[in-house]
Amino acid sequence: MITSKMIKEKAIEFGANLCGIAPVDRFKNAPRGFSPLDLYPKCESVIVCAKRLPIGLLNSTSCVPYSHYNDFLPLELDRISLKLAYYLEDMGYGAIPIPSDNPYEHWESNRMYGRAILSMRHAAYMAGLGILGKNTLVINEEYGNMIIIGAVLTDVNLEADPIIDKTTLCPENCSLCIDSCPVDALDGITIDQQKCRPRSIVTNEKGYTLYKCNICREICPNGKGTLFKKK
Ligand code: SF4
Ligand code: SF4
Repeated sequence: MITSKMIKEKAIEFGANLCGIAPVDRFKNAPRGFSPLDLYPKCESVIVCAKRLPIGLLNSTSCVPYSHYNDFLPLELDRISLKLAYYLEDMGYGAIPIPSDNPYEHWESNRMYGRAILSMRHAAYMAGLGILGKNTLVINEEYGNMIIIGAVLTDVNLEADPIIDKTTLCPENCSLCIDSCPVDALDGITIDQQKCRPRSIVTNEKGYTLYKCNICREICPNGKGTLFKKK
């Protein structure tokens, strides 16, 4: 019988920095059509992996390194999820790898609002990888908000990780990210994509997509994690 420990060891072997597991019933309040059970009616557990982004990406005067590796790391997560899915299938279990980022079907052009088939940040929270900060990013104790997330749905009932309840990572009296957003896109719970996207995602004349704003990530005092604090 496969165990959570075996899956986590494989995830690390495949290149993940973090791996947590959430039982599917933790997603019962997900929007209709966007829960693991909507995607896979046999789903019992959600395996969530994360890889760290180098903190140095925030220190460049050019937006190019940050832009490129924000697009590159989701592909790394997809590779890890694919390998985990093969691993599970080869042992006779059901598994569906979920894209870390694109593509998604739901798009409301009038308010520039896109919704992934599964919210990776909520999955990470449900699997105990971190808390949700007021900037809407996951804050992990070790890597701060510099992580990219991927997930695999499986029909195996696995031992779950506890949800993290560390409000100290995003204290009630902090509103730095909200106050610093140049377009007032954050309200402490959600992000107004119609305000954020034109400011943060720019396509240049050559057709390259560049991420021109990450203030709400960079300014977060806990955002760079304990790795950063050790330095
Ligand atoms: S990325 Fe920039 S524009 Fe978007 S919410 Fe963060 S600070 Fe605001
Ligand atoms: S800047 Fe402050 S309020 Fe915003 S996510 Fe970080 S800790 Fe939370």
